[in-house]
Amino acid sequence: MPLTVVQHPLAQHYLTHLRDETTKPALFRTLARKLTTLLAIEATRDLKTISQPIRTPLKAIDSPVLDQEIVIVPILRAGLGMVDAITELFPEVSVGYIGMERDETTAIANSYYRKLPSLEGRVVLLIDPMLATGGSAERALEDLYGQNPAQVQLICIVAAPEGVARLERAFPTLQIITAALDTELNDRKYIVPGLGDFGDRLYGTF
Ligand code: URA
Repeated sequence: MPLTVVQHPLAQHYLTHLRDETTKPALFRTLARKLTTLLAIEATRDLKTISQPIRTPLKAIDSPVLDQEIVIVPILRAGLGMVDAITELFPEVSVGYIGMERDETTAIANSYYRKLPSLEGRVVLLIDPMLATGGSAERALEDLYGQNPAQVQLICIVAAPEGVARLERAFPTLQIITAALDTELNDRKYIVPGLGDFGDRLYGTF
């Protein structure tokens, strides 16, 4: 399974400040949006294009325009912090939602909401900032792959080896785009060094 860790210095700069425990929610939201822009550009580098005839002020040419429909599916609630960056890049995207809540004692994800557009033949970007055990992403991906999409990618900010390995086993063709592959999970299933609870840091729910 292809795993891409975006090493661009600007991406790593944003990530450092996201990790920093002194970063407050307002700045955290800004950084999450900016980093997502870089990750989304990487994730969409192989989008299909078609040639379209246009005239520049100087000459008639054939020039490429995007030729694939994109659906983004943030996992609520943390994924919401990454949506605006992608809708700004691709204003025509459709946005589906999957709500997952992690039981804090068992770390098992339960689905409480689902609203998806048609995924048939479309490029689907699942948005889940912290790939920890991979439980939420696996449940969401089972659903998404069942709708016959052209391609599915997972965009996350930080991934743990445990989550990557789990998804690799379950979905060998899935592409994962992340800004970091961290060391491990702790006994509460948080990513270490990670950045803490993404949703709490995004929305100030400490
Ligand atoms: N979810 C988070 O927000 N942070 C983690 O480290 C793991 C899961």
